[in-house]
Amino acid sequence: MKNFTKYDYLIVGSGLFGATFAYCATQAGKRCLVIDRRPQLGGNVYCEDVEGIHVHKYGAHIFHTNDKQVWDFVNSLVPFNRYTNSPVANYKGKLYNLPFNMNTFYQMWGVITPEQAQAKIDEQKAEAVAKLGGMEPQNLEEQALTLVGKDIYEKLIKGYTEKQWGRSCTELPAFIIRRLPVRLVYDNNYFNDAYQGIPVGGYNVLIEKLLEGSDCVTGVDYFIAKVGDVLPNVVNEKLLKQAWHDIADKMVFTGKIDQFYDYRFGQLQYRTVRFEQETLDMPNYQGNAVINYTEREVPFTRIIEHKHFESFGQAVYDNPKTVISREYSTEWTPGMEPFYPVNDDKNAALYKQYKSLADQQTDVLFGGRLAEYAYYDMAPVIAKVMQLTID
Ligand SMILES: Cc1cc2nc3c(=O)[nH]c(=O)nc-3n(C[C@H](O)[C@H](O)[C@H](O)COP(=O)(O)OP(=O)(O)OC[C@H]3O[C@@H](n4cnc5c(N)ncnc54)[C@H](O)[C@@H]3O)c2cc1C
Repeated sequence: MKNFTKYDYLIVGSGLFGATFAYCATQAGKRCLVIDRRPQLGGNVYCEDVEGIHVHKYGAHIFHTNDKQVWDFVNSLVPFNRYTNSPVANYKGKLYNLPFNMNTFYQMWGVITPEQAQAKIDEQKAEAVAKLGGMEPQNLEEQALTLVGKDIYEKLIKGYTEKQWGRSCTELPAFIIRRLPVRLVYDNNYFNDAYQGIPVGGYNVLIEKLLEGSDCVTGVDYFIAKVGDVLPNVVNEKLLKQAWHDIADKMVFTGKIDQFYDYRFGQLQYRTVRFEQETLDMPNYQGNAVINYTEREVPFTRIIEHKHFESFGQAVYDNPKTVISREYSTEWTPGMEPFYPVNDDKNAALYKQYKSLADQQTDVLFGGRLAEYAYYDMAPVIAKVMQLTID
Protein backbone atom coordinates (compact mmCIF):
# COMPACT_ATOMS: atom_id res chain seq x y z
CA MET A 1 0.00 0.00 0.00
CA LYS A 2 1.19 3.52 -0.85
CA ASN A 3 1.30 6.63 1.39
CA PHE A 4 -0.31 5.02 4.31
CA THR A 5 0.32 5.16 8.01
CA LYS A 6 -1.62 2.56 9.88
CA TYR A 7 -4.44 3.62 12.20
CA ASP A 8 -4.67 2.42 15.78
CA TYR A 9 -8.42 1.82 15.43
CA LEU A 10 -10.83 1.18 12.60
CA ILE A 11 -14.25 2.09 13.99
CA VAL A 12 -17.21 0.71 12.08
CA GLY A 13 -20.24 2.91 12.81
CA SER A 14 -20.34 6.58 13.85
CA GLY A 15 -23.27 6.33 16.28
CA LEU A 16 -22.80 7.28 19.92
CA PHE A 17 -20.82 4.15 20.71
CA GLY A 18 -18.37 4.56 17.82
CA ALA A 19 -18.14 8.35 18.18
CA THR A 20 -17.56 8.25 21.96
CA PHE A 21 -14.96 5.55 21.48
CA ALA A 22 -13.23 7.68 18.83
CA TYR A 23 -13.21 10.63 21.25
CA CYS A 24 -11.71 8.66 24.14
CA ALA A 25 -9.15 6.98 21.88
CA THR A 26 -8.12 10.32 20.36
CA GLN A 27 -7.72 11.75 23.86
CA ALA A 28 -5.47 8.77 24.62
CA GLY A 29 -3.29 9.70 21.62
CA LYS A 30 -4.63 7.07 19.22
CA ARG A 31 -5.39 7.54 15.52
CA CYS A 32 -8.88 6.51 14.50
CA LEU A 33 -10.56 5.89 11.17
CA VAL A 34 -14.36 5.96 11.47
CA ILE A 35 -16.54 4.61 8.66
CA ASP A 36 -20.32 4.64 8.34
CA ARG A 37 -22.54 3.18 5.67
CA ARG A 38 -25.05 6.00 5.98
CA PRO A 39 -24.50 9.29 4.14
CA GLN A 40 -24.07 11.09 7.48
CA LEU A 41 -22.35 10.66 10.82
CA GLY A 42 -24.06 10.16 14.18
CA GLY A 43 -26.06 6.94 13.81
CA ASN A 44 -29.55 7.21 15.19
CA VAL A 45 -29.04 10.58 16.86
CA TYR A 46 -28.40 12.32 13.53
CA CYS A 47 -30.67 15.31 12.87
CA GLU A 48 -31.55 16.74 9.48
CA ASP A 49 -32.05 20.49 9.09
CA VAL A 50 -35.50 21.12 7.57
CA GLU A 51 -36.67 24.76 7.44
CA GLY A 52 -34.21 25.57 10.23
CA ILE A 53 -35.63 22.82 12.46
CA HIS A 54 -33.50 19.89 13.66
CA VAL A 55 -35.52 16.85 12.61
CA HIS A 56 -34.69 13.65 14.50
CA LYS A 57 -34.44 11.50 11.36
CA TYR A 58 -34.20 8.15 13.14
CA GLY A 59 -36.70 8.77 15.93
CA ALA A 60 -37.06 11.35 18.69
CA HIS A 61 -34.05 11.33 21.03
CA ILE A 62 -34.23 12.80 24.52
CA PHE A 63 -31.07 12.64 26.56
CA HIS A 64 -31.65 11.71 30.20
CA THR A 65 -29.45 10.29 32.92
CA ASN A 66 -28.72 10.04 36.61
CA ASP A 67 -25.04 9.60 35.91
CA LYS A 68 -23.33 12.89 36.76
CA GLN A 69 -20.09 11.82 35.11
CA VAL A 70 -21.85 11.24 31.79
CA TRP A 71 -23.84 14.47 32.12
CA ASP A 72 -20.68 16.49 32.87
CA PHE A 73 -18.89 14.80 30.00
CA VAL A 74 -21.51 15.62 27.34
CA ASN A 75 -21.96 19.15 28.71
CA SER A 76 -18.20 19.71 28.50
CA LEU A 77 -18.57 19.19 24.74
CA VAL A 78 -21.84 21.07 24.17
CA PRO A 79 -24.28 22.70 26.60
CA PHE A 80 -27.69 21.04 26.93
CA ASN A 81 -30.99 22.94 26.97
CA ARG A 82 -33.78 22.62 29.54
CA TYR A 83 -36.12 20.39 27.49
CA THR A 84 -38.23 18.24 29.81
CA ASN A 85 -40.12 15.36 28.31
CA SER A 86 -43.82 15.67 29.21
CA PRO A 87 -45.74 13.60 26.68
CA VAL A 88 -49.49 13.83 26.33
CA ALA A 89 -51.82 10.95 25.37
CA ASN A 90 -54.70 11.47 22.96
CA TYR A 91 -57.42 8.83 23.38
CA LYS A 92 -60.42 9.40 21.13
CA GLY A 93 -59.86 13.15 21.14
CA LYS A 94 -59.48 13.46 24.91
CA LEU A 95 -56.10 14.40 26.33
CA TYR A 96 -54.31 12.85 29.33
CA ASN A 97 -50.95 13.78 30.79
CA LEU A 98 -48.24 11.15 31.00
CA PRO A 99 -46.67 9.50 32.90
CA PHE A 100 -49.66 8.49 35.04
CA ASN A 101 -49.86 11.18 37.69
CA MET A 102 -52.37 13.36 39.53
CA ASN A 103 -53.06 15.36 36.34
CA THR A 104 -53.94 12.09 34.55
CA PHE A 105 -56.20 10.95 37.40
CA TYR A 106 -57.98 14.29 37.48
CA GLN A 107 -58.55 14.07 33.71
CA MET A 108 -59.66 10.42 33.99
CA TRP A 109 -61.92 10.54 37.05
CA GLY A 110 -62.15 14.15 38.26
CA VAL A 111 -60.37 13.20 41.50
CA ILE A 112 -58.44 16.00 43.17
CA THR A 113 -56.50 14.57 46.09
CA PRO A 114 -53.92 11.74 46.15
CA GLU A 115 -56.17 9.86 48.59
CA GLN A 116 -59.11 9.96 46.16
CA ALA A 117 -56.89 8.84 43.28
CA GLN A 118 -55.42 5.96 45.28
CA ALA A 119 -58.90 4.81 46.31
CA LYS A 120 -60.04 4.76 42.66
CA ILE A 121 -56.94 2.84 41.52
CA ASP A 122 -57.25 0.36 44.40
CA GLU A 123 -60.93 -0.24 43.60
CA GLN A 124 -60.15 -1.02 39.93
CA LYS A 125 -57.12 -3.16 40.78
CA ALA A 126 -59.21 -5.17 43.23
CA GLU A 127 -61.82 -5.85 40.51
CA ALA A 128 -59.08 -7.25 38.24
CA VAL A 129 -57.55 -9.38 40.99
CA ALA A 130 -60.99 -10.77 41.90
CA LYS A 131 -61.60 -11.73 38.24
CA LEU A 132 -58.40 -13.78 38.23
CA GLY A 133 -59.78 -15.83 41.13
CA GLY A 134 -56.37 -16.48 42.71
CA MET A 135 -54.56 -17.22 39.41
CA GLU A 136 -51.37 -15.39 38.37
CA PRO A 137 -51.79 -13.00 35.39
CA GLN A 138 -51.29 -15.08 32.21
CA ASN A 139 -50.74 -12.29 29.71
CA LEU A 140 -49.97 -8.58 29.46
CA GLU A 141 -53.64 -7.57 29.62
CA GLU A 142 -54.24 -9.40 32.90
CA GLN A 143 -50.97 -8.09 34.29
CA ALA A 144 -51.72 -4.46 33.43
CA LEU A 145 -55.26 -4.71 34.82
CA THR A 146 -53.96 -5.91 38.18
CA LEU A 147 -51.37 -3.13 38.27
CA VAL A 148 -53.49 -0.08 37.34
CA GLY A 149 -57.09 -1.18 36.76
CA LYS A 150 -59.34 -1.04 33.71
CA ASP A 151 -59.71 2.69 32.95
CA ILE A 152 -56.00 3.44 32.65
CA TYR A 153 -55.37 0.12 30.92
CA GLU A 154 -58.11 0.50 28.31
CA LYS A 155 -57.58 4.18 27.54
CA LEU A 156 -53.83 4.62 27.86
CA ILE A 157 -52.09 1.23 27.60
CA LYS A 158 -54.01 -1.32 25.51
CA GLY A 159 -54.14 0.25 22.03
CA TYR A 160 -50.67 1.81 22.23
CA THR A 161 -49.03 -1.44 23.34
CA GLU A 162 -50.84 -3.47 20.67
CA LYS A 163 -49.66 -1.07 17.97
CA GLN A 164 -46.10 -1.16 19.35
CA TRP A 165 -45.89 -4.94 19.32
CA GLY A 166 -48.25 -5.70 16.45
CA ARG A 167 -50.09 -8.20 18.65
CA SER A 168 -53.05 -8.24 20.97
CA CYS A 169 -52.29 -7.66 24.68
CA THR A 170 -53.85 -11.05 25.46
CA GLU A 171 -51.18 -12.69 23.26
CA LEU A 172 -48.28 -10.77 24.81
CA PRO A 173 -46.44 -12.23 27.81
CA ALA A 174 -47.13 -10.71 31.22
CA PHE A 175 -43.43 -10.07 31.94
CA ILE A 176 -43.22 -7.22 29.39
CA ILE A 177 -44.91 -5.01 31.99
CA ARG A 178 -43.44 -5.76 35.40
CA ARG A 179 -44.30 -2.42 36.95
CA LEU A 180 -46.55 0.46 35.99
CA PRO A 181 -45.53 3.31 38.24
CA VAL A 182 -48.24 5.75 39.25
CA ARG A 183 -47.37 9.12 40.75
CA LEU A 184 -49.62 10.66 43.31
CA VAL A 185 -48.20 14.11 42.60
CA TYR A 186 -48.92 16.66 39.88
CA ASP A 187 -45.70 15.99 37.95
CA ASN A 188 -45.68 15.52 34.16
CA ASN A 189 -41.90 15.03 33.85
CA TYR A 190 -41.64 11.65 32.11
CA PHE A 191 -38.20 10.77 33.44
CA ASN A 192 -37.15 10.37 37.06
CA ASP A 193 -33.54 11.15 36.18
CA ALA A 194 -31.69 14.10 37.66
CA TYR A 195 -30.56 15.40 34.25
CA GLN A 196 -32.22 15.69 30.87
CA GLY A 197 -32.15 17.92 27.80
CA ILE A 198 -31.16 18.27 24.17
CA PRO A 199 -27.75 19.57 23.03
CA VAL A 200 -27.95 23.26 22.15
CA GLY A 201 -27.71 23.33 18.35
CA GLY A 202 -28.82 19.70 18.11
CA TYR A 203 -27.18 16.28 18.36
CA ASN A 204 -24.99 16.84 15.30
CA VAL A 205 -22.94 19.31 17.35
CA LEU A 206 -22.27 16.63 19.97
CA ILE A 207 -21.25 14.13 17.28
CA GLU A 208 -18.94 16.66 15.58
CA LYS A 209 -17.20 17.28 18.90
CA LEU A 210 -16.85 13.58 19.62
CA LEU A 211 -15.32 12.93 16.20
CA GLU A 212 -12.89 15.87 16.23
CA GLY A 213 -9.42 14.57 15.43
CA SER A 214 -10.65 11.31 13.83
CA ASP A 215 -10.70 10.59 10.11
CA CYS A 216 -14.31 9.91 9.07
CA VAL A 217 -15.71 8.48 5.85
CA THR A 218 -19.45 8.17 5.17
CA GLY A 219 -21.33 6.10 2.60
CA VAL A 220 -18.99 3.17 3.23
CA ASP A 221 -20.33 -0.24 4.20
CA TYR A 222 -17.74 -2.37 5.95
CA PHE A 223 -19.03 -5.50 4.24
CA ILE A 224 -18.88 -4.22 0.68
CA ALA A 225 -16.32 -1.39 0.67
CA LYS A 226 -12.86 -1.79 -0.77
CA VAL A 227 -9.80 -0.28 0.93
CA GLY A 228 -9.41 2.23 -1.93
CA ASP A 229 -12.97 3.55 -1.27
CA VAL A 230 -11.93 4.53 2.23
CA LEU A 231 -8.36 5.64 1.66
CA PRO A 232 -8.34 7.24 -1.81
CA ASN A 233 -4.56 7.74 -1.75
CA VAL A 234 -3.98 4.08 -1.27
CA VAL A 235 -3.93 1.67 -4.18
CA ASN A 236 -5.62 -1.43 -2.83
CA GLU A 237 -8.63 -3.23 -4.27
CA LYS A 238 -8.97 -5.66 -1.39
CA LEU A 239 -12.31 -5.72 0.45
CA LEU A 240 -12.00 -3.64 3.61
CA LYS A 241 -13.39 -6.54 5.59
CA GLN A 242 -10.46 -8.69 4.51
CA ALA A 243 -7.89 -5.92 4.78
CA TRP A 244 -8.69 -4.27 8.06
CA HIS A 245 -5.64 -5.76 9.74
CA ASP A 246 -3.54 -3.86 7.17
CA ILE A 247 -5.38 -0.63 7.96
CA ALA A 248 -5.61 -0.61 11.72
CA ASP A 249 -4.24 -2.49 14.71
CA LYS A 250 -7.66 -3.02 16.26
CA MET A 251 -11.27 -2.70 15.29
CA VAL A 252 -14.41 -1.50 17.03
CA PHE A 253 -17.52 -2.91 15.38
CA THR A 254 -20.92 -1.35 16.11
CA GLY A 255 -22.93 -2.92 13.26
CA LYS A 256 -25.08 -6.07 13.37
CA ILE A 257 -23.30 -8.96 15.03
CA ASP A 258 -25.15 -11.61 13.00
CA GLN A 259 -24.03 -9.93 9.78
CA PHE A 260 -20.43 -9.85 11.02
CA TYR A 261 -20.56 -13.63 11.20
CA ASP A 262 -22.35 -14.00 7.86
CA TYR A 263 -25.62 -14.99 9.56
CA ARG A 264 -24.18 -18.44 10.10
CA PHE A 265 -26.63 -19.31 12.88
CA GLY A 266 -29.55 -17.38 11.35
CA GLN A 267 -30.86 -13.80 11.42
CA LEU A 268 -31.66 -11.87 14.58
CA GLN A 269 -35.08 -10.20 14.49
CA TYR A 270 -36.04 -6.61 15.22
CA ARG A 271 -38.99 -4.28 15.39
CA THR A 272 -38.75 -1.01 13.63
CA VAL A 273 -40.54 2.30 13.15
CA ARG A 274 -41.69 3.87 9.89
CA PHE A 275 -41.73 7.68 9.90
CA GLU A 276 -44.11 9.81 7.86
CA GLN A 277 -42.64 13.30 7.87
CA GLU A 278 -44.52 16.46 6.93
CA THR A 279 -43.57 20.13 6.83
CA LEU A 280 -46.53 22.32 7.73
CA ASP A 281 -47.18 25.96 6.98
CA MET A 282 -47.94 26.87 10.56
CA PRO A 283 -45.73 27.70 13.53
CA ASN A 284 -47.25 25.33 16.08
CA TYR A 285 -49.16 22.14 15.19
CA GLN A 286 -49.72 20.31 18.47
CA GLY A 287 -48.12 22.46 21.17
CA ASN A 288 -45.89 19.67 22.47
CA ALA A 289 -42.96 17.61 21.20
CA VAL A 290 -44.61 14.25 21.85
CA ILE A 291 -48.28 13.25 21.61
CA ASN A 292 -49.12 9.54 21.91
CA TYR A 293 -52.22 8.21 20.17
CA THR A 294 -53.38 5.45 22.47
CA GLU A 295 -56.42 4.11 20.63
CA ARG A 296 -55.88 1.07 18.39
CA GLU A 297 -57.92 2.51 15.51
CA VAL A 298 -55.42 5.35 14.86
CA PRO A 299 -52.66 3.52 12.94
CA PHE A 300 -49.68 5.54 14.20
CA THR A 301 -48.38 5.46 17.77
CA ARG A 302 -47.12 9.03 18.16
CA ILE A 303 -46.74 12.39 16.48
CA ILE A 304 -43.45 14.17 17.12
CA GLU A 305 -43.27 17.92 16.50
CA HIS A 306 -39.52 18.46 16.32
CA LYS A 307 -39.23 22.21 16.96
CA HIS A 308 -40.49 21.80 20.55
CA PHE A 309 -37.26 19.99 21.50
CA GLU A 310 -35.28 23.16 20.98
CA SER A 311 -37.67 26.17 20.93
CA PHE A 312 -39.58 27.28 23.97
CA GLY A 313 -42.28 29.88 24.67
CA GLN A 314 -42.54 32.70 22.15
CA ALA A 315 -39.51 31.37 20.21
CA VAL A 316 -41.79 28.67 18.77
CA TYR A 317 -43.39 31.43 16.65
CA ASP A 318 -40.07 32.80 15.34
CA ASN A 319 -40.22 30.10 12.65
CA PRO A 320 -43.51 30.20 10.68
CA LYS A 321 -43.14 26.51 9.73
CA THR A 322 -43.09 23.29 11.66
CA VAL A 323 -42.12 19.67 10.95
CA ILE A 324 -43.99 16.66 12.30
CA SER A 325 -43.37 12.90 12.10
CA ARG A 326 -46.04 10.25 12.51
CA GLU A 327 -44.53 7.05 13.88
CA TYR A 328 -45.79 3.63 12.77
CA SER A 329 -44.44 0.67 14.70
CA THR A 330 -43.65 -2.08 12.19
CA GLU A 331 -42.28 -5.59 11.82
CA TRP A 332 -38.66 -5.44 10.61
CA THR A 333 -37.60 -7.06 7.36
CA PRO A 334 -34.07 -6.98 5.89
CA GLY A 335 -33.37 -3.62 4.28
CA MET A 336 -35.28 -1.68 6.96
CA GLU A 337 -33.58 0.06 9.89
CA PRO A 338 -33.17 -2.47 12.72
CA PHE A 339 -34.34 -0.45 15.76
CA TYR A 340 -35.51 -2.62 18.64
CA PRO A 341 -34.19 -6.12 19.44
CA VAL A 342 -36.92 -8.70 19.98
CA ASN A 343 -36.84 -9.70 23.60
CA ASP A 344 -37.78 -13.41 23.35
CA ASP A 345 -36.12 -16.78 24.02
CA LYS A 346 -35.47 -17.58 20.37
CA ASN A 347 -33.55 -14.37 19.68
CA ALA A 348 -31.77 -14.44 23.04
CA ALA A 349 -30.48 -17.96 22.27
CA LEU A 350 -29.37 -16.91 18.79
CA TYR A 351 -27.54 -13.86 20.13
CA LYS A 352 -25.79 -16.06 22.69
CA GLN A 353 -24.32 -18.15 19.87
CA TYR A 354 -22.94 -15.06 18.12
CA LYS A 355 -21.71 -13.64 21.41
CA SER A 356 -19.65 -16.74 22.09
CA LEU A 357 -17.87 -16.21 18.75
CA ALA A 358 -17.33 -12.53 19.56
CA ASP A 359 -15.86 -13.41 22.96
CA GLN A 360 -13.13 -15.42 21.26
CA GLN A 361 -12.29 -12.58 18.88
CA THR A 362 -9.65 -10.60 20.79
CA ASP A 363 -8.83 -8.12 18.00
CA VAL A 364 -12.40 -6.77 17.62
CA LEU A 365 -14.43 -4.93 20.23
CA PHE A 366 -18.17 -5.37 19.66
CA GLY A 367 -20.17 -2.50 21.14
CA GLY A 368 -23.44 -0.61 20.91
CA ARG A 369 -27.02 -1.60 20.33
CA LEU A 370 -26.57 -3.64 17.12
CA ALA A 371 -23.38 -5.47 18.04
CA GLU A 372 -24.69 -6.30 21.51
CA TYR A 373 -28.27 -6.90 20.32
CA ALA A 374 -29.61 -4.83 23.21
CA TYR A 375 -31.75 -1.76 23.63
CA TYR A 376 -29.58 0.97 25.14
CA ASP A 377 -30.45 4.54 25.91
CA MET A 378 -27.82 7.10 24.91
CA ALA A 379 -26.35 7.78 28.35
CA PRO A 380 -25.59 4.10 29.15
CA VAL A 381 -23.86 3.75 25.77
CA ILE A 382 -21.59 6.67 26.63
CA ALA A 383 -21.04 5.36 30.17
CA LYS A 384 -20.03 1.98 28.80
CA VAL A 385 -17.40 3.48 26.50
CA MET A 386 -16.09 5.74 29.27
CA GLN A 387 -15.41 2.66 31.39
CA LEU A 388 -13.30 0.94 28.72
CA THR A 389 -9.54 0.82 28.93
CA ILE A 390 -8.19 2.01 25.61
CA ASP A 391 -4.67 0.83 24.84
C1 LIG B 1 -36.42 5.04 17.52
C2 LIG B 1 -35.42 5.21 18.64
C3 LIG B 1 -35.61 6.21 19.59
C4 LIG B 1 -34.68 6.35 20.62
N1 LIG B 1 -34.89 7.34 21.56
C5 LIG B 1 -34.01 7.49 22.56
C6 LIG B 1 -34.21 8.50 23.56
O1 LIG B 1 -35.18 9.25 23.52
N2 LIG B 1 -33.30 8.59 24.55
C7 LIG B 1 -32.20 7.77 24.64
O2 LIG B 1 -31.38 7.93 25.56
N3 LIG B 1 -31.98 6.83 23.70
C8 LIG B 1 -32.85 6.67 22.67
N4 LIG B 1 -32.63 5.70 21.72
C9 LIG B 1 -31.42 4.87 21.81
C10 LIG B 1 -30.21 5.48 21.07
O3 LIG B 1 -30.52 5.66 19.71
C11 LIG B 1 -29.02 4.54 21.21
O4 LIG B 1 -28.64 4.42 22.54
C12 LIG B 1 -27.79 4.99 20.46
O5 LIG B 1 -28.10 5.44 19.18
C13 LIG B 1 -26.84 3.83 20.35
O6 LIG B 1 -25.73 4.16 19.59
P1 LIG B 1 -25.00 3.04 18.75
O7 LIG B 1 -23.72 3.65 18.32
O8 LIG B 1 -24.94 1.78 19.49
O9 LIG B 1 -25.95 2.72 17.52
P2 LIG B 1 -26.40 3.55 16.25
O10 LIG B 1 -26.76 4.93 16.59
O11 LIG B 1 -27.40 2.73 15.55
O12 LIG B 1 -25.09 3.60 15.34
C14 LIG B 1 -24.60 2.49 14.61
C15 LIG B 1 -23.98 3.03 13.33
O13 LIG B 1 -23.30 1.97 12.68
C16 LIG B 1 -23.48 2.10 11.30
N5 LIG B 1 -23.27 0.79 10.67
C17 LIG B 1 -23.95 -0.34 10.90
N6 LIG B 1 -23.49 -1.33 10.13
C18 LIG B 1 -22.48 -0.80 9.39
C19 LIG B 1 -21.62 -1.32 8.37
N7 LIG B 1 -21.73 -2.58 7.95
N8 LIG B 1 -20.70 -0.52 7.81
C20 LIG B 1 -20.60 0.79 8.20
N9 LIG B 1 -21.40 1.32 9.14
C21 LIG B 1 -22.32 0.55 9.72
C22 LIG B 1 -24.92 2.59 11.18
O14 LIG B 1 -25.15 3.20 9.91
C23 LIG B 1 -25.02 3.55 12.34
O15 LIG B 1 -24.69 4.86 11.95
C24 LIG B 1 -33.56 5.50 20.71
C25 LIG B 1 -33.38 4.49 19.75
C26 LIG B 1 -34.30 4.34 18.73
C27 LIG B 1 -34.10 3.21 17.74
